[in-house]
This record gives sequence, C-alpha cells and structure tokens, in this order.
Amino acid sequence: MVVIDGVNKHFGDLHVLRDINLTVGRGEVVVVLGPSGSGKSTLCRAINRLETIESGTISIDGKQLPEEGKPLAQLRADVGMVFQSFNLFAHKTIRDNVTLGPIKVRKKSKSEADQQATQLLERVGVEAQADKYPAQLSGGQQQRVAIARSLAMGPKVMLFDEPTSALDPEMVNEVLDVMVGLAKEGMTMIVVTHEMGFARKAADRVVFMADGQIVEVGTPQEFFTSPKSERAKDFLGKIL
Ligand code: ATP
Ligand code: MG
Repeated sequence: MVVIDGVNKHFGDLHVLRDINLTVGRGEVVVVLGPSGSGKSTLCRAINRLETIESGTISIDGKQLPEEGKPLAQLRADVGMVFQSFNLFAHKTIRDNVTLGPIKVRKKSKSEADQQATQLLERVGVEAQADKYPAQLSGGQQQRVAIARSLAMGPKVMLFDEPTSALDPEMVNEVLDVMVGLAKEGMTMIVVTHEMGFARKAADRVVFMADGQIVEVGTPQEFFTSPKSERAKDFLGKIL
C-alpha cells in the first residue's frame, strides 16, 4: 500500500532521512518510534509530500506521488494525516470541518457529505457537538473530529504524528480507542506515538528510527522484549 524506497532528505547539513526503505501492507498498522529529532515527523510529512525528498520514491497504492500539479491534491486526499495540534478550521462548525473536503475535493453533494459527517461524528463519539465550533470542544474531542475529518476523504492510509501528545492525560485514551477501532477495521496506518500501550495493542510492526535511519523493524513483542540494537535498548531504557 505504501512503498518507501531509498528516500533521502537533508535540511542544510543535516541528513534527516537516510536511505529510508519501508513497505507498509494493506491493513497493516506500523508504529514509528525513536528519539526526538530522529526524523519521524519528516518521514510522515514526506509521505504526503508536505516535505520534498531528494532521492528515492514513495508510492501509495501503486501510484508514485508526483511533484506538483493537480494529481497531488488527489493523492494527498488518499493519505489522511492527523497531527499533534488539531488543525481544525476555527471559524467553521464541527460538521462543516468534516464536510468541507468531501464537497470541495471529492465533489460530493452537500446532503451526501452531511450524511457521511453524521455517521463519522457518531463513530468517533462527538455527534452531539456537530453544530459547535472547535474552541467549544475539549482537546480530545477536537482530535477525534480531526480523525473524522480525515476519514471523510476516504483515505487509503492514515498517518498519525503524535496525535495524543498535546492532550491532557485523561483524554489520551478516548483518542487512542478511536485509533484502535480503526486499526481493527483494517485501516492501513502509520502512527508516530510514544504511547507504548497502543503500540503493543494495535501495531503489526514497530519501526525504530534514530538519526534519520530505520535502525530496527520488528513485531511489538520482538521490539519491546528483545531489542537488537544498542540505540533501541537505550531508547527503551529511557521510556519504559
Ligand atoms: P520529535 O520526536 O521531537 O517530534 P522527530 O523524530 O519527529 O522528533 P523531525 O521533526 O522529523 O524529528 O526532525 C528531524 C530533524 O530535522 C531535527 O533535527 C529537526 O530539528 C530538523 N528539522 C525538522 N524540520 C526542519 C526544517 N523545516 N528545517 C530545518 N531543520 C528541520
Ligand atoms: Mg515529530
């Protein structure tokens, strides 16, 4: 579903992505771990071309992302992305946040988009908030709306970049529960998170990055109980 082949990128002198190779199968959930600055966010952003890459290729569902032009908007719509900050449109209602993309990019009718928004807001448990504005919702609710908004585009893969790290602790699980549900339903997901419970529960594979490289790939069981590299052992020693 997602094939990352020989990808490199620099920020000035910093070699932030070093020959990254990773294939994520349909319905697979990959959790990306690694120390701060290891390139996790840059990799996510490269996957939907919020960052350019210097060499290598990234393809989604067999289609290589073009550098520019209209197909990019289409392909980006195939890749849902949820960030640490919720990035909802502040001046639009929750419902309008969810219907905007489907109407503009997917060319759905207003009534069709509305119906779908109702279903998605129910699915993430915020249907009662549909007519409110983002600022009237809790962080956990806003993040669940952000997930619903991404899902409304019918993405082929969902990227999550530390979706719960800006949340108060009591709201973390309500967001993780939605993500676990998505994983169980077979969504292809790449998730950067420090939530080891989520990694253990939902990940098919864990990818460990350090200094712009993929250092280790394994099942959660393998990675958490017998990490191979010193870097991974050191990392796990600090966070567990
Ligand atoms: P964190 O866990 O802190 O989110 P990360 O693994 O997501 O870290 P990235 O955000 O991908 O790391 O950053 C990797 C490196 O690239 C860091 O050293 C960062 O300072 C640098 N970097 C990121 N974006 C830019 C940019 N736009 N210009 C220059 N350097 C950048
Ligand atoms: Mg990051």
